[in-house]
Amino acid sequence: MSQLKKASWYDISGKVISSGRVSNVDLKKGKGEYEYRAVCDRCNGSGVVKRFYRSQCTKCHSSGYLFTTKREVYTLNALFTVNRPVACRIYREIKSLTAEAIPTVLENWIASNFGLVNQIKQRAADNSFLKSLTEQLTAGRILTEKQLSAAKRTLEHWR
Ligand SMILES: [Zn+2]
Repeated sequence: MSQLKKASWYDISGKVISSGRVSNVDLKKGKGEYEYRAVCDRCNGSGVVKRFYRSQCTKCHSSGYLFTTKREVYTLNALFTVNRPVACRIYREIKSLTAEAIPTVLENWIASNFGLVNQIKQRAADNSFLKSLTEQLTAGRILTEKQLSAAKRTLEHWR
């Protein structure tokens, strides 16, 4: 959930706006503003038009931009009220990302019992009890304390 709560800003179309560009933040409403600059279509933002020699763009008066305006940005929550379909899409994307990023209980357990799990796996072919433990892990169930101490005792044989 922490990833979802972290303030990310989106414009009305769902484009991510970096928080450094956002001002006038109203966290209660989940809104802010960012400076939107429309690139000049004649000089493409360079402020210069090439003809026989490099000349200043007269359309944008060499600023490279036709106009600068403030546009509203929204947190994901606020985006749900102004552009629900886009907000739903973003929400699904974030959710699938975080689901992959958060380790499962099993992964956490394996990580904290890494050495022992490795030994069990290495000896699984030699011992039916250890084999059953690896099968249990493959099925996604962590080992009980009882099973762990039994596994340790079994592994003593190869010391
Ligand atoms: Zn221009």
